[in-house]
Amino acid sequence: MIVDKDTVGAGAGTVSVGDVVFGGRRLVLIAGPCTVESRTQMIEIACAVKEAGAAMLRGGAFKPRSSPYAFQGLCEEGLEILAEARARTGLPVVTEVLESAQLPIVSAVADMLQIGSRNMHNSILLRDAGACGKPVLLKRGMSATIQEYLFAAEYVLSAGARRVVLCERGIRTFETATRFTLDLSAVPLLKERTWLPVIVDPSHGTGKASLVPAMSRAAVACGADGVMMEVHACPDRALCDGDQSETPEMFYNLVKELRAIAQAVGREV
Ligand code: PEP
Ligand code: MN
Repeated sequence: MIVDKDTVGAGAGTVSVGDVVFGGRRLVLIAGPCTVESRTQMIEIACAVKEAGAAMLRGGAFKPRSSPYAFQGLCEEGLEILAEARARTGLPVVTEVLESAQLPIVSAVADMLQIGSRNMHNSILLRDAGACGKPVLLKRGMSATIQEYLFAAEYVLSAGARRVVLCERGIRTFETATRFTLDLSAVPLLKERTWLPVIVDPSHGTGKASLVPAMSRAAVACGADGVMMEVHACPDRALCDGDQSETPEMFYNLVKELRAIAQAVGREV
């Protein structure tokens, strides 16, 4: 399979998104709200996470919500706001695409396409995203085995993409004290099996803002190439995933801690 570690030569294993490189010595911190809520909210948080050390900006314009009655995202308007946030900060943007029909509009704005946990098994979307030429951030399905996850990445790669980054975001177990169980062993395992960079999302992986710093430190310590986390200026008022969102101040402090851990494992932030 293309995804297998032994199918690529030396030097591969890095994925570029503009000036940002996944899989190099420098770790990639992706931060931003779960969802784009308004122009003011997004620009404010984009400036704050950039100032604190984020290399990329996240924020969903199209949201895959469990309930059909929950806020579904600002859609096209959300994409316009993301483009403005990028213009203001220079940070490349990763945002989710929910279906193949959205690929033209989402890829017109996104620097990197996110395929979410709920869509990891959508082979049509995987193939279409892989063929569209944009880098892809492929999240692990919440109930996907490592083998199924690797097949999903293979769908994207076999459609022509070479810029694919994996993201461990927690899996379903019997445990209910956390939203998901963050499977950090997936990081070294995926790195053993594939040449793709691997990042960790401790926000969805735990569902609790208070656990995100420790799991981010652990992610860096176990070899992740980056961390993606949700940051909101006022988590109590977030339209989506407030419980797992860091404040800008928490994020700022965490970046300093990650710098120390990174140094201990031969990386930098
Ligand atoms: C997200 O990143 O906002 C998201 C919906 O993540 P996941 O697909 O991992 O649930
Ligand atoms: Mn979220």
